[in-house]
Amino acid sequence: MPMTYSDLIADVRKSIATVSLEEIKRRLDEKVPMVLVDVREKEETRAGFIPGAIIVPRGFLEMQIEQKITDKNAPVVLYCAGGTRSALAAKTLMDLGYTKVESANPGFVRWKDLGFPMEKAPELTDAQRDRYSRHLLLPEVGEAGQAKLLGSKVLLLGAGGLGSPAALYLAAAGVGTLGLVDGDVVDASNLQRQILHATSRVGMPKVDSAESTIRDLNPDVKVVKYQERVNSSNVERIFKDYDVIVDGCDNFPTRYLVNDASVWMKKPVVHGSIFRFDGQVTTFHPAAGGPCYRCLYPEPPPPHLAPSCQEAGVLGILPGVIGVIQATEAIKLLLGKGAPLVGRLVTYDSLRMKFGELKLRRDKSCPVCGDNPTIKEYIDYEGFCSVDLG
Ligand SMILES: [Zn+2]
Repeated sequence: MPMTYSDLIADVRKSIATVSLEEIKRRLDEKVPMVLVDVREKEETRAGFIPGAIIVPRGFLEMQIEQKITDKNAPVVLYCAGGTRSALAAKTLMDLGYTKVESANPGFVRWKDLGFPMEKAPELTDAQRDRYSRHLLLPEVGEAGQAKLLGSKVLLLGAGGLGSPAALYLAAAGVGTLGLVDGDVVDASNLQRQILHATSRVGMPKVDSAESTIRDLNPDVKVVKYQERVNSSNVERIFKDYDVIVDGCDNFPTRYLVNDASVWMKKPVVHGSIFRFDGQVTTFHPAAGGPCYRCLYPEPPPPHLAPSCQEAGVLGILPGVIGVIQATEAIKLLLGKGAPLVGRLVTYDSLRMKFGELKLRRDKSCPVCGDNPTIKEYIDYEGFCSVDLG
């Protein structure tokens, strides 16, 4: 005769070990090693879960548990809302060869009533879950990573050739705050490469034009506008709130100021530069062991040797490639995933369609990040052209 549901549950309960909520709380407080597994549905866990628990809904248990708990002798405590699903899950884990399995009795509903500690997953709205669904499918991003991006702040120096593609992709990715520093207005000759802007906005400040594009692309993103040039008196005010600096400026005074400020304020700078058909990207982050810009070029060249102030030609698509690599690096730094371009310079030759990589080393005698720094105050270098090659 087939079993009824109550027979089945009664059988399961006899064959598994249970543990009280008070005992789980004691183990948490005393940091007793255990793997807590929440087997409720994803929707149920949104209102909170026991701190440190991993979430494996009952329906995915058999498929996922061996990836999540590789040691079959690890002490595992399962819980659900009331204690039934976790009892069934405990039986399954025992069948799969796990040796130290317990089921909480009762479950999370009572845990909450008791006022025991809870953790909450960062909340995304339904619209955000839809917008970022392709990110949520990546375990390296997921809801927690997406929430991190939404809480992150990236400063873009320049809303030009490099800043345009970087800003567009960072906005699309849901980086919650984008700071834009650019003192210029949109010029028709920018539109060959500066894809944030539009013909209808020629003459408008670039920061305003950029803001309108970004707002239309993704209303989750807050744009903070700085319609000014970075100098020694404003650099710390502008930099202080940001997690990552994306540098698309190509003039010496700014480059050295940005470097010195970022070293002192311990902010990573994703640096990009372009010239004609060639581009380069690296991440300056001495706090992570890499060099700073002055490790490579301690002082700017004397004005008569500096590159000519004539505007240089540039293939319009080139900053697209380099700016998108910069945005990729910024996202990786924000998520803490992958290997950043710290101590590495990626080179790109669009005519030969070749990428290369050079090692960059930190210089212990660097005047800013070295062991005995000689530069301790901002220097406003003068006498250079400030043509933004981007
Ligand atoms: Zn240095």
